[in-house]
Parts: sequence; C-alpha cells; structure tokens
Amino acid sequence: MKKSILKADLHIHSVLSACASLDMSPKNIIEKAKELNIDVIAITDHNSCGNCEVAQRLGEKNNIIVLCGMEITVAEEFHVVALFSEISQARAVEKKLHEKLLPIEIDEDRNGYQLVVDEDENIIRHEKIFLNQATLPCDDVIKLVKENDGFFFFSHIDRDYYSILATLGFIPDKYQDMTFEIYGFDKKGMEKTIRNSDAHFIDWIGHRCFLIESKPDKESVIKNLLTSNFYYKED
Ligand SMILES: [Zn+2]
Ligand SMILES: [Zn+2]
Repeated sequence: MKKSILKADLHIHSVLSACASLDMSPKNIIEKAKELNIDVIAITDHNSCGNCEVAQRLGEKNNIIVLCGMEITVAEEFHVVALFSEISQARAVEKKLHEKLLPIEIDEDRNGYQLVVDEDENIIRHEKIFLNQATLPCDDVIKLVKENDGFFFFSHIDRDYYSILATLGFIPDKYQDMTFEIYGFDKKGMEKTIRNSDAHFIDWIGHRCFLIESKPDKESVIKNLLTSNFYYKED
C-alpha cells in the first residue's frame, strides 16, 4: 500500500475525562470524525486509556485509525500526550502512572464524571479516583513512552495553564528536538509542531488538525510520527 496524506486530530478527550462533555462517547467521537473525513484520531484522557480499546474497535468498523493515547500530567504539573498503536502498550504506561495517583476520590457533582463506556454508550464503570493528578517526572514519562514504542509531544504549549511554557517559563535545551503542540501562535522557528483540537465537546473535534504522510494503518502512523513525517498548513 502506498503512502498517503492523512488528516489527523490526535488530542481528543472522552467521557473518561471529568472536564469533557457527557456526549463525548467513543461512538459519537468516531461518528464526528467520519463526518469530517478525519483519517486518524487519538483518544487522550487524563492519565488513563480506559476508553481507547472501544474507540479502536469502533474505528476499525468505520475505517478510522484510532491511536491509544493519554494526556499525562507530569510531576512538574504540565501536560504531555503519549500515543501508542496498541492498547497493551498504553496500558503498560497507564499502570505506572496509576501507581503515582493519590487515593483522592472525585466529587462527581462538582468535578464531573469519569466514565468507562462500551460501544453502545452503556456505562461500564465510574472511575472514582480523580485522574488528573500529577504523576511521574517528565523525563521518566519520556523514557516510559519510548520503552513502549510510543510517540510523545508536549501539549498546548501556548496555553497559559498546564503547559510547559506556562509552568517552567521556558523549554529546556534537552527538549528542543521534541514535538510541540501549538494552538495558534507562530511556531517561532520550532521545527516539530503539530495542531490538534484538544476537544472536550463534539463540535470541537477537527477544528485544529494536521497532516501525516503515512500508510493508513496505526503502526505506520506511529512510525511516521516518530520520524516527523508530518506538517500543518497555515490557515
Ligand atoms: Zn491539557
Ligand atoms: Zn487535553
């Protein structure tokens, strides 16, 4: 199969993120991606991949490539995203993150719900431990993602909270060659930048996208992300 240009939105929250809307079921997300002709998506809930397997199954039925992802809160208190082709890889990383979570229960009335659902939007379980907690130091996360053949990027670096720039005030030299997700700012000479929706609501999906040059399968997509075979067009 030859390479093609794939439209990607690799930062989407589902109902497992307390901050996401309750209609962000894997089923609705896949339907929306299909409507918008998005080829590749990733489900990236906070420190958890609980809805990725279902999304991947639905993606297969609808010809959408779904990566298993997580938006990880690192110990330094900013967000990064890890993406994997296989659910087993994501789960191995999730296990290490969950070892760091304090047993703080979520107040569903105040904070929202963290739901694991099935293909038909039935609730499988309510995740009670508050998931958006600081976990491992950034360098440990990078190592862990690499060991599990995943792709890593720094989330929304031009947002004024939970971003590496807002938290540290600068990007340390050791990270200069890595990939950064930007919302709207000029990329200011940064080579590897991508844009995603960070959707918490259905209508946000796809409102920022980027393009990957890859064969249309999840392993090839990860490989091409790792070799920076991607770009975005200025609006
Ligand atoms: Zn974030
Ligand atoms: Zn996010």
